[in-house]
Amino acid sequence: MFGAVSTGDHADRIPGEAEDFASYRDAGGYRQLASIASGDERGREAVVETLEDAHLRGLGGAGFSTGRKWRIVRGQAGPRLMAVNIDEGEPGTFKDRYFLERRPHQFLEGMLIAAHVVGVDRIYVYLRDEYAGLRALLERELDSLQADPPCPLPAIEQRRGAGAYMCGEESAMLESIEGRRGMPRLRPPYIAEVGLFGRPTLEHNMETLYWVPEILAKGADWFLSHGRNDRQGLRSFSVSGRVRRPGVHVAPAGISVRELIDEYCGGMPEGHRLKAYLPGGASGGILPASLADLPLDFDTLQDHGCFIGSAAVIVLSDRDRVRDVALNAMRFFAHESCGQCTPCRVGTEKAAQLMAREKWDRALLEDLCEVMAEASICGLGQAAPNPLRCAMRFFPEEC
Ligand code: SF4
Repeated sequence: MFGAVSTGDHADRIPGEAEDFASYRDAGGYRQLASIASGDERGREAVVETLEDAHLRGLGGAGFSTGRKWRIVRGQAGPRLMAVNIDEGEPGTFKDRYFLERRPHQFLEGMLIAAHVVGVDRIYVYLRDEYAGLRALLERELDSLQADPPCPLPAIEQRRGAGAYMCGEESAMLESIEGRRGMPRLRPPYIAEVGLFGRPTLEHNMETLYWVPEILAKGADWFLSHGRNDRQGLRSFSVSGRVRRPGVHVAPAGISVRELIDEYCGGMPEGHRLKAYLPGGASGGILPASLADLPLDFDTLQDHGCFIGSAAVIVLSDRDRVRDVALNAMRFFAHESCGQCTPCRVGTEKAAQLMAREKWDRALLEDLCEVMAEASICGLGQAAPNPLRCAMRFFPEEC
């Protein structure tokens, strides 16, 4: 289910375009880490302030302030641990893979800066098990780094993801790392206080850490200088579906899906017209083309029953049926529900059965949605109704 990585596994599948340790270091990499590690408390405080000034938020989906999280964990009594989430299980999301395949050391430097600033003794890197080539790449590059470290390093362990969507939820991931079935924990206590093996734990999505060295090198103002429609910063959109150029596109926060498609994705394919889009993977809901000018960012889509999450944008055209997409998502949630709580375990299964009928019982489905959203323990059950609710709200003619 999980464990240490065996050397040499999938070495033939290591992405060839990855920048290696020597190249990264020769270009000035790890200098910031060395400086922070050899500096004093004031230097570490300045790092946190820069991240707060840049408004860097958790890019795994929750969007919690990075600087604030570091302060909270740093304020807990040691020993402290760290867990890096690279499970990347949200359907449509592939940005972590994209960055790791190209610049693994930018991520590793960000991870080690976080560990030094917060005072972490041991780091667990939880990597999606399907990313076998990346596992071999990380192992190779960690070996190079540990053979010639720029400063004393904390212990670093790689753990293989257990293959469940649920294991991307932060507390379920900790359960999985500890060797148990990946099921979310009840909170409080929060994992910043009582996390991995009962210790205060700094948990981060890989991409959040990836941006840390670049923001520290270029400054908070550089990061904030990007943005559109009154939003600031950069976002990495994983775009798939009906576009000419799918892939990861780093674009200004607040860009609309229409701008994203036209300026970054080469437009829609010939003969397709924008009908709808999923702004945040399977759980982020579905919006109609009439709302294609909304700014895509944290806190901008809630009024429409959606959220950006990990910025997995899936574009649908007039050749797609939204009700089919919503049903597909509900079947996915039913399959991935960990079964711990009844509203989610039974609700997702029941909703999928009802949605498979030609004519939907909308009153019953609305009722089910409310129970799932209000009474589920974790985000899976709470967000599972989003695509269904959007289908009924924006595309009643299909339901
Ligand atoms: Fe498990 Fe679903 Fe309950 Fe979350 S909401 S704890 S996935 S049953």
